[in-house]
Amino acid sequence: MYLIDIDDQEIEHNIRALLTSFYPGCDIAYNSEGADVELSISVKGTLVSIGDEQYTIDSSDRLFGVTKLIYKILSKNTGISLPWGMLTGVRPSKILYSHIASGSGRDECIDYLVKERFVSPKKAKLAYEVASKEYKLLGGMNYSDHYSLYVGIPFCPTRCLYCSFTAYPISRYEKRVDEYLDALCRELAAVRDMMSGRVLDTIYIGGGTPTTLKSEQLDRLLGFIEEKFDLSNLKEFSLEAGRPDSIDEDKLRVIGSHRVDRISINPQTMQDKTLEVIGRKHKVEDIYKAYDLAKNIGFTNINMDLIAGLPGESSDEFRDSLMRCIELKPSNITVHCLSVKRAARLNLMKDVYKDMTFDGIEVAVPLSFDLLSDAGYKPYYMYRQRNQAGNQENVGYSMEGSECLYNILIMEELQTIIACGAGAASKFVYPQGDRNRIERAENVKDVEGYIKRIDEMIERKRILWNN
Ligand code: SF4
Repeated sequence: MYLIDIDDQEIEHNIRALLTSFYPGCDIAYNSEGADVELSISVKGTLVSIGDEQYTIDSSDRLFGVTKLIYKILSKNTGISLPWGMLTGVRPSKILYSHIASGSGRDECIDYLVKERFVSPKKAKLAYEVASKEYKLLGGMNYSDHYSLYVGIPFCPTRCLYCSFTAYPISRYEKRVDEYLDALCRELAAVRDMMSGRVLDTIYIGGGTPTTLKSEQLDRLLGFIEEKFDLSNLKEFSLEAGRPDSIDEDKLRVIGSHRVDRISINPQTMQDKTLEVIGRKHKVEDIYKAYDLAKNIGFTNINMDLIAGLPGESSDEFRDSLMRCIELKPSNITVHCLSVKRAARLNLMKDVYKDMTFDGIEVAVPLSFDLLSDAGYKPYYMYRQRNQAGNQENVGYSMEGSECLYNILIMEELQTIIACGAGAASKFVYPQGDRNRIERAENVKDVEGYIKRIDEMIERKRILWNN
């Protein structure tokens, strides 16, 4: 057990993150209650006690000073250097964004991360590439008068083993989908009124799997958005076709007849045995079919998602999946690292899957950077999550000019993103000096509740927006 007594929430958050990175699965408590204590850490003002040793840190930046000190000691005790060094936040590239904005060059930025934050040279290079790309793409954007729109379709063909999103089996809800769309359209119409006079930059339809809707339902939703919103300045319209087992020619033709200019077809893996383990009721062959169909219909901007760390896979199999995706030449490939949240079946049934580990995540993820870079892809957005396999990260790669702006905007929290649909979470960004104030409004997650309480969801947004 690791005992902590810390007088600041942010510092405690960082120390907890470091302890769980150095000692995965360790117990951290405020009180030992008789259990054996491996190490105790106390932070009171500028005084830091680690075991029997005491240190005094500079009071001008306690968060940085304490995190750096604890990282160095844990690294020395374990003999381990973490790939992201002492960085515990979800967006490692954010630190470099301000360095680039104030004129620092590539070597200076990478040097800073390696020497001051103990980031590995490879990760520092990745962070620089992402930050410089974001800086270039977001540079000219207007945040105060513009906004983006997210639309959630919370249905999927089946529930994946690792899923923690708002996603319900379509077979159970088939009869309620039209009612769901009625409520969603009411919410969208209210958002259009609320945001009148503002410019809509990007739209993202996600979920769940939007292509679980029938082609007539997709047509209705897309037509409604086009009719109600002014899309004359729209920079990007993405739709997650997502699961290959939800895609057919009719649906893709309907999507292609509207303003959508970017879709995702997400294999997650190109191994049949893993598709079965994660609960997907389709084969690799179906991924190829869906991709060919989309290309033949004329989609040119297609993203494919892969996950490293899926149960029972090896790093060679991940490499094979990645190479197969690269051969298809989609404009975007996003490499996620498995992150298992509490509500996921994979966590709830962890005993069943305990022997199905993934070997070599530390190799697989850096390898994806090399293979994708060799194939001409560049990293353009990145984030980390809690409980992420191997303390790695999720990275979106794209061919030049095919980057998804929405993905960057949702990460950077610089622009208001209004989210409609069950479980959707809006972020209202209010510029305030050099720090934005962010207010969140979450819709209820269950479909039934969303349909019944739609007026409440709308009112919640209105109140927040008018304040
Ligand atoms: S496709 Fe995505 S949202 Fe749907 S069940 Fe799988 S992980 Fe969840």
